[in-house]
Amino acid sequence: MEEISREYYLAHSGQKATAELQPIYARHAAILGPDALELTLEMFRGAPEGSEEQRSARLLLDWQTESQSSRQLAPLDEREIAWEGSAIVRLDDGREIEYETMSIEMANGTDRNERHAMEAARAKLVEQELAPLRRERFQRERDITEQLGLASNYNATFELLSGVSLEALKAECEQFLRDTQAMWNEVLPEFSKRILGADAKDLTRADALALFRAREFDEFFQPNEMESSIRKQVHEMGIDPLASGRITLDTGDRPGKRSRAFCSPVRVPREVYLVLRPHGGQTDWNTFLHELGHALHFAYMRPDLPFEYRWLGDNSITEGYAMLFDHLMESPRWLKRYTELTAAALPKFIRSSGFEELHFLRRYAAKLIYEIDLYGGNVPWDSLPDLYVDVMTSATSFRYNRADAFVDVDPRYYAVRYLRAWQLQALITETLVERYDEDWWRNPRAGPWVCAALFGEGQRELAHEQAQRVAGKPLSFAPLVRAVERMLG
Ligand SMILES: [Zn+2]
Repeated sequence: MEEISREYYLAHSGQKATAELQPIYARHAAILGPDALELTLEMFRGAPEGSEEQRSARLLLDWQTESQSSRQLAPLDEREIAWEGSAIVRLDDGREIEYETMSIEMANGTDRNERHAMEAARAKLVEQELAPLRRERFQRERDITEQLGLASNYNATFELLSGVSLEALKAECEQFLRDTQAMWNEVLPEFSKRILGADAKDLTRADALALFRAREFDEFFQPNEMESSIRKQVHEMGIDPLASGRITLDTGDRPGKRSRAFCSPVRVPREVYLVLRPHGGQTDWNTFLHELGHALHFAYMRPDLPFEYRWLGDNSITEGYAMLFDHLMESPRWLKRYTELTAAALPKFIRSSGFEELHFLRRYAAKLIYEIDLYGGNVPWDSLPDLYVDVMTSATSFRYNRADAFVDVDPRYYAVRYLRAWQLQALITETLVERYDEDWWRNPRAGPWVCAALFGEGQRELAHEQAQRVAGKPLSFAPLVRAVERMLG
């Protein structure tokens, strides 16, 4: 796991052209072979219902199952990583742009026609080169998983191994989309007009990038103050932001570095990397906070926890802590203290954050609904691109592109982790406010509690179990809807 994590870190941070995963799988074949899978399956089936032994065995079996496809998909993944690190988009006017920076370029561009030309060139390249690779990846992953015979199909296998009901979450997502439709219809035209000067009826996903780039607040989020301000805040809540050197921050620009920031736990909890390619402005602040939440979680896990609780488990937990930190930018008092945002700009900024939050929630709810069909096997592969465009476009009002039907998918239901993390984050924030007041984020008693009661536990619990232990409430979209209403109010 350490070797794989280090390979991904080096490749995605632009320090290596591609990740060499196959030699690692070859070297450690026995750990992820059929015997190991058989052993964890026996442990899982033999463990008493509800026991700690069963909890451990479920996580190990989930890992072994996932590894069966990861190992066999390694050559495809290597090709995909190499492609992403080197692909060039050629525009009609002859310009050449690094594929990885396209989203940054489109978000920063102010000319709408130019943006649409860039998007067309990007989509063409993706359709020809990346989409077939990704489609094959998902087809093979589904086949490999179903051939293991743990449950009747891919989705039932996911439910067995994750302890999460897809149908229940899908129903919540559909309800959420209905409940917030009127609110969305009301705010989108206002922002579209004001920021893009465009009618809400003919927006595309490329326009969404520019819309949420929210350049109007950039002056309040200086790049050179980001790290020091946020580190100061973490200090004030009683946590060492670098965890005595266990966390390394890699936040400079480097060719080949992925545009999407990430956190690599190479040895948990001793060696954790936070990698961010600067885009500029408030986006970087948000992303840095998010990844710092992950980094702190990994670096403050109790070192004596068994392997499965440090490395495996319900990623809704770590995403929940990441969101606990990135949602600090929804707090007016936090913004006043750590950013340059003026009192005059604050209400507008909060309203804009509410708009963005609502969009991302609706996008992820729709992604889950689509991905259940992608993995479900009832929709033919050739019909998925049209379904993708329908589902995503109707939830977000932005016209999506068929080219992205297999590219804009987080493998293995990562959307489930994000959605539950969102819900968990809202409950943890409520708990922190009750225990340590509105400004818990600068209360020196809050950090030690967060480290002991939350980070320290690794990922032993499922998100809904943690919600009950910490907040005494079930996970739901209700607190998120209330927060969005408050911000847009
Ligand atoms: Zn994350």
